[in-house]
Amino acid sequence: MNQRYMKNFLCLLVLVLLTFNCFASDQGSSSSESKPFHKEDECAVQAYFFQAGNTPLFLSNEHGAEKSQVIAGVPLRKGIGVKKFNSKADWYTAEITLKVAQEYERLTGKKPYVLIANIHRSQIDFNRSAKLAYEHPSMKPCYDDFHGVVRSTVDEIRQRWAQGYLLDIHGQNKRPNYLIRGTYNGLTIKNLREKEGGDVYQKKLGLFGRLSGLGYQVMPQYPQRETIYRGGYVVKTYGSHRPDGIDAIQLEIGKYYRKDVSVRKQLIFDLANVLSTRMNAIFKE
Ligand SMILES: [Zn+2]
Repeated sequence: MNQRYMKNFLCLLVLVLLTFNCFASDQGSSSSESKPFHKEDECAVQAYFFQAGNTPLFLSNEHGAEKSQVIAGVPLRKGIGVKKFNSKADWYTAEITLKVAQEYERLTGKKPYVLIANIHRSQIDFNRSAKLAYEHPSMKPCYDDFHGVVRSTVDEIRQRWAQGYLLDIHGQNKRPNYLIRGTYNGLTIKNLREKEGGDVYQKKLGLFGRLSGLGYQVMPQYPQRETIYRGGYVVKTYGSHRPDGIDAIQLEIGKYYRKDVSVRKQLIFDLANVLSTRMNAIFKE
């Protein structure tokens, strides 16, 4: 009799221990699930570097992030059905964008607005519409963050100075020795064309005209039309052809001007100089 009680007691004890153990491990896994790495509607990293400015110059860069700047667990884009799909970074353009801003400030005492993407193009292309920019849903909040900043910066510049100058900085390898202008053939600089007419492209006034005057090879030469790299999503979305836009120019920097450190340094210096005279001519800034 006693033995039977003992046996039943031990069985019950084993059952209780097993149940408790299952419950405890269940609790463990559910508590780790309830603490995700980030919320679904939040970008897992700071999607961009931003500097607020005190002059109507806005320097942006979408493709400069390096290969190491990827979000763990997010698959790389495949680009199925995306025209001219490219998932490679524009080498050295984040550095160029930041240093041009620093050199500009050193020269003029004014801070341009600066926005530089922090996620590699293999996961997101900020210079595309949302539909074509990313494939994994966790990239949506990152995309929204980045373009939220472009929108609010353009709005702020319009509020403070009525107009502004957005230079969207990229790199290209097709014409390695050239700097290529993209404005959809003048569309995204509608305001400047109305103010300055054809002079907007000339040596004495225009950004590319001045760069050409310093010995840079530029494309297209005025009055030729833009045929390659005519402009991307950013200039098309925020350009002055829109009622809420500012003058926007895409600059595609050939590989030759980026890869060598001394050539790159000279480009940074020249771009900052040319931008300061350009801003002075337009805004007296
Ligand atoms: Zn690019």
